[in-house]
Amino acid sequence: MPAVTDALARLAAAADAGAVPEAADLEAVLASDDAELMDVVAAAARFRFRHFGNRVKLNYLVNLKSGLCPEDCNYCSQRLGSKAEVLKYTWLSPEEAASQAAAGVAGGASRVCLVASGRGPTDMDVERVGKTIAAVKNASPGVEVCACLGLLGEGQAGRLAELGADAYNHNLNTSEDAYAEICSTHTFADRVDTVNAARGAGMSPCSGLIAGMGESDADLVAVALGLRGLGADSIPVNFLLPFDGTPLEGTWELHPRRCLRILAMVRLANPAAEVRLAAGREVHLRQLQGLALQIVNSIFLGDYLTSEGQAAKDDLALIADAGMVPSGLAEAPGAVREAVRVRRRGAGTDRAPNA
Ligand code: SF4
Repeated sequence: MPAVTDALARLAAAADAGAVPEAADLEAVLASDDAELMDVVAAAARFRFRHFGNRVKLNYLVNLKSGLCPEDCNYCSQRLGSKAEVLKYTWLSPEEAASQAAAGVAGGASRVCLVASGRGPTDMDVERVGKTIAAVKNASPGVEVCACLGLLGEGQAGRLAELGADAYNHNLNTSEDAYAEICSTHTFADRVDTVNAARGAGMSPCSGLIAGMGESDADLVAVALGLRGLGADSIPVNFLLPFDGTPLEGTWELHPRRCLRILAMVRLANPAAEVRLAAGREVHLRQLQGLALQIVNSIFLGDYLTSEGQAAKDDLALIADAGMVPSGLAEAPGAVREAVRVRRRGAGTDRAPNA
């Protein structure tokens, strides 16, 4: 394993030259120790600021259809046989989806992600989503819409593009070698085909990964380089939320510094891509979310598909505290000021100390 200082120098040179980085150098980033963490963050931050300045893209999720999926993705709370007590409902009406989306846009989101559980849409579903895209754009002019409906069949990518989808999300999630460990009902190649179909139809390809599912460092590097090879414009990086009632229940492999290294590795593998901090950021990065903004240029505002995120106002405070500006707003949200509170507990009182 190369020393991380040398690896970071080679990764920066590769990024400057637009060259594909060496997998061994990316693995060195993941294997670096805590004393080297700020060097790793700084190396990734250079490319984040070069390509995106101080802007943070805010994305807002609307789960159009939740739960009861026939596929068996191990990490998913909506999978076949999931005992996770997530919301289950069928298609939201276009009006309801547009109303939900408008709340996110008012909070600063510039992209709305319309997601539906399932293996993939029927042609009738595609038409239904087209009506929802129209309603969202009508209610929130100028917003980008990304559709995430699963595997696409013949002609469906082109039809979604005609119906106004600006982007299509379909995550690779893990490496080709590890894919059979997380799902048996479809393949890595199926996923690649859908991302390629989306790009071929003129939609911006959005595809990312999930970390913390038992994969190796080599798997993480392989999927990061695979996403580069696919030309993913935006790359959501999810940290596993191991829902009770799913096969990965109790899988807690991540800690905040590990998450930062993973984000930095993805950035250095994809210097100019929109790297999006996605599900699990509050749970796994905790107090280091602010440092992660030095690496990523995009987050989800508010809640996720089946889990709650932190309050949207805390997301905006996180961005303001980093001196950054949401791309959907003209200026930074105002700083959050906490009132100074006089101590009334612990020493000198009869109340318990704050410890
Ligand atoms: S296809 Fe999508 S909704 Fe269905 S189990 Fe897999 S990740 Fe979950």
